[in-house]
Amino acid sequence: MNVIMKFGGTSVQDADAMNRVISIVRNQWAQNPNDLPPVVVVSAMSKVTDRLVETGRLAGERRGSEAAQIVADLLTRHLGVSSTLVQGPELEVLNAQLTADFTALQNDVRTWAAAGEVTPAAADVLQAMGELASSRIVAAAFRQQGVNAAWVDSRQVLVTDAEHSAAVPDMEATAERCRAMVAPKTAAGQVPVMGGFIGATDTGVTTTLGRGGSDYSAAIFGACLDVGEIQIWTDVDGMLTADPRVVSNPVLVPELSFDEASELAYFGAKVLHPSTILPAVAKNIPVRILNSKRPDVRGTMITATGRTDGDTLTALACKRGVTVIDITSSRMLMAFGFLRRLFEVFERFKTPVDVVTTSEVSVSVTVDNTRRLDDIISNLRNFAEVSTEPNMAIVCIVGENLRADAALFGRAVTALQGIPLRLVSQAGSRRNITFVLRDEDVVSAMNRLHDAFFTVKVGA
Ligand code: ADP
Ligand code: ASP
Ligand code: MG
Repeated sequence: MNVIMKFGGTSVQDADAMNRVISIVRNQWAQNPNDLPPVVVVSAMSKVTDRLVETGRLAGERRGSEAAQIVADLLTRHLGVSSTLVQGPELEVLNAQLTADFTALQNDVRTWAAAGEVTPAAADVLQAMGELASSRIVAAAFRQQGVNAAWVDSRQVLVTDAEHSAAVPDMEATAERCRAMVAPKTAAGQVPVMGGFIGATDTGVTTTLGRGGSDYSAAIFGACLDVGEIQIWTDVDGMLTADPRVVSNPVLVPELSFDEASELAYFGAKVLHPSTILPAVAKNIPVRILNSKRPDVRGTMITATGRTDGDTLTALACKRGVTVIDITSSRMLMAFGFLRRLFEVFERFKTPVDVVTTSEVSVSVTVDNTRRLDDIISNLRNFAEVSTEPNMAIVCIVGENLRADAALFGRAVTALQGIPLRLVSQAGSRRNITFVLRDEDVVSAMNRLHDAFFTVKVGA
């Protein structure tokens, strides 16, 4: 079975981490020596994308020398890692390339700062540098250690539309490029090493898939190459029963269905980019989440069927910092066309809504992107009364067996007793229930739910 192996930012954060990547890939290949070699996708080294975003912000504020300094520091960091892992003529070529790329970027940054503007297209060029640099280093490090690897420029393979910072892949065009540029490498026994997160339009303009998008890249390439498994290597053991930054004692979820994984990712389980599952479902390719620091842990396996046993939920997720918008219209609510009009406003301002509830006279929705909130409100006010409440959060309980066991909902509500619930919604799939509550109550709500469903009671 040929596989695609994606390594996230912490899994390539320094030379030691990159060495771990090499041994994980080597082991994977050694276990299946008759298969095609694995395809490797890497993120930018940890925190690099954050720094590049910061660079763009500074350039937009005309703070050119501060912005250029970050780029210079990033070059130093990358040269430090490359010089630890690679030697001889390969190192010379690599360092010359990195120096040329970062220096060109530094010049661009100065130009943008002088104009006081970083366009969305420029921001994508800026952010793409992280994955370009990390993938070049990893490819060279593989070769240094005797693994026949080839760097592939993802911008020439992943074809997208021109929606900068949230580009949508053209699967057919990408599959064609994969057949032309990636498959021949694996057929020749080479490990292709590619940057995640980045792509380009069919005319070659650099784009990015959105933060956390390297998982999505791996799934896109995996589907286009018809691999047998998509592996997401990260810094936790797999999908846990809750976000470890919110709940102190989450445990590993060994198996998940595609649908459960999508819901969890969409509602805040950052370990998986929300779009990752789409290409996997289309080709029915299992996705496995694994820990690059503990490669022997079995991780989480995500398949069409998922878990079939058990009488509890699968996992919890939470999304913080959302805004509730209440739209009230006593005259209009039940009139034909009201909801269409309402959602058209959100569509016009490209703002997705997460949770929707309705009552006799009002509709409430949550949004996490408030960039166009003022425009949205003023347009809604043309036909309804509108009020908003910021600093809210979504807490979501997910499990295929919510459908069969009505008592699970009761247990959740009991666990949340005393915490004001602003909205409650059960999806049509009946695979998840979402609670909207105050952000300040999230930690308490998540821990109480986790205790109720996942903490094994002594003597139980
Ligand atoms: P990578 O850089 O490997 O893509 P991310 O930081 O994007 O890693 O995702 C991994 C992180 O996701 C974990 O360190 C953890 O803090 C967070 N996370 C949130 N919810 C969950 C969950 N339910 N299970 C596992 N990790 C989660
Ligand atoms: N480097 C990008 C980010 O930090 C993409 C990724 O890591 O998945 O958002
Ligand atoms: Mg990630």
